[in-house]
Amino acid sequence: MTTLQPEPVFVPSQSAPAPAVRTWLRRIHSGGQIVETCPDWCTDTHRNDGSGYLDDLQHGAQFDGLELAVFDAEHGTAPMPVLAGRISVDPYSSDSRRRTPHIHLEPFQDEVMERLTPDEFAAVIAGVRSHCDRMDEVHAELVKTRVEYR
Ligand SMILES: [Zn+2]
Repeated sequence: MTTLQPEPVFVPSQSAPAPAVRTWLRRIHSGGQIVETCPDWCTDTHRNDGSGYLDDLQHGAQFDGLELAVFDAEHGTAPMPVLAGRISVDPYSSDSRRRTPHIHLEPFQDEVMERLTPDEFAAVIAGVRSHCDRMDEVHAELVKTRVEYR
């Protein structure tokens, strides 16, 4: 006689550190259930992933953006994150680019560059780096202009 072992259940918690391997039973709305296992780099809580459609699942790891103090009429300035994002994978997506780990980049708040491959992300990084070099030149021009200004 075979004894049925209970499935390990992942109980997400915001305060607990992420365990090394996270596995949980997910009920699929179209029927059935599946044991999900996070890739080791996933830091998502999955607290809302106890049930859903098969292709709803996404694993990911956020990275913070640079916060710039932009003009705000009410407060003078407000922090605006730029170049934030996450490494993501949608293991059941019909889109093969989503089924492979990719970058979801938010160049600025509420705007997105989706499904970036490593080469595409590298091109964005090179473009930002080149722009920073150009801003260094503008900075030097500003310093010179201020010395000469009268
Ligand atoms: Zn995960």
